[in-house]
Amino acid sequence: MDNPIKKKIVILLIIIFSGIFLYNVYKIASEIYKTKKAIDDDYEYNDVTDILNYLDDDSLENIIDKVDTENAVNYSIVYNAFTSNGINIAIYLKDANNPEITLKGSKYSISYTLTKLEDKIYAANISLAALNNDTYIFYLSDNGEENNILNTLDPLKQIKRAKENTKLATFINTPFSVIINNFSYEYDILIDVGHGGVDVGASNDAITEADFNLIQSLYEKERYEQHGLTVLLSREDDGDGMMMGEFDSWNRAKLRGYAVGYYGVTAKIVYSNHNNSSENPSDSGFEIIVPNSFNRSELNTEFKIMNSLYEIYPKELINHIYTMYSRDIETGIAYNKERGSVYSYEDYYATTRLPLLLFKVDVTTYEGAYFNNEDNFYWYYYEEGWKKVSEAKIKAYVEALGKTYIPVD
Ligand SMILES: [Zn+2]
Repeated sequence: MDNPIKKKIVILLIIIFSGIFLYNVYKIASEIYKTKKAIDDDYEYNDVTDILNYLDDDSLENIIDKVDTENAVNYSIVYNAFTSNGINIAIYLKDANNPEITLKGSKYSISYTLTKLEDKIYAANISLAALNNDTYIFYLSDNGEENNILNTLDPLKQIKRAKENTKLATFINTPFSVIINNFSYEYDILIDVGHGGVDVGASNDAITEADFNLIQSLYEKERYEQHGLTVLLSREDDGDGMMMGEFDSWNRAKLRGYAVGYYGVTAKIVYSNHNNSSENPSDSGFEIIVPNSFNRSELNTEFKIMNSLYEIYPKELINHIYTMYSRDIETGIAYNKERGSVYSYEDYYATTRLPLLLFKVDVTTYEGAYFNNEDNFYWYYYEEGWKKVSEAKIKAYVEALGKTYIPVD
């Protein structure tokens, strides 16, 4: 029996279902394409630019979130940070009409208009690039009245000194001033020897991390010296190390972070030697911790080291989430840096965070192995895998400094 109406209905249904089917195929395909494109774009983006790096962020927009008014009095600093060519600064002002900051040297002065961010909070972007060698006192001027500026921020938040192109800028308080000198490097490499004193770090039956970090760092120092390079260690014995009595209210990691930043300003390369332990006994392998804000090209040498370590390290001993990562101070969560991704959170570790914020110094931290993982420790310590790890770092840094690497005999 031929029923034309039934036939039409069947054809119509076929068309409708085909349509739905094709639409879904299209949707899935475009989703796959979009995801792939996002990954590619992300990768390219991270290779060429770095908009989240606060060190390169000269705008005043994001300051207000970071202003600290806890100890604020009239004319005091409530925020300071290094930028690409100087500093951003925010001042607490009870009343103001047209406030300006003036930097007065012995020969000339330079003024910057303050922008009102909100009630009582004013900010300016101050360039240090044009300043000649001199001491410049910061004044707050408004309607012909001049006052010194105070820095009432926690010392942990006060910018201290940094390399500014060919100059060294050093900030001092009472009155708040900047001293400009010619910059010169004092060391090729500063190695922060992790832990020391009463702080032994990770440990197992064979050795403490503090003792091992010293053995490894002394080895690396000697090897760099064979290449004609100068090396400073944050400690040369089992004591606390340099500058550890400066601020007695700070914990040890922060003191070390401050010291590494302070001396790191005049070193070309700064890194920290550590070794790991974990509650998870299967965690194994090396880790490289870098600042959140550094992009792929800024981490060029660290990527070379990471790639060498992937070749040197026995594959079965590499077992954890990320090899190169940064960590968020708020959440403690680690984020992958193996593709050079850039993040805007503040760095978790004091020895990464403080050198960067107060001294514009980039510190990479190496965790050579997990001391609580038997297989990992056996290869690293008893089979001296750690020397191969050290040599990978030495080769990459020696070459980054323009020298020819001399292999071990
Ligand atoms: Zn450690």
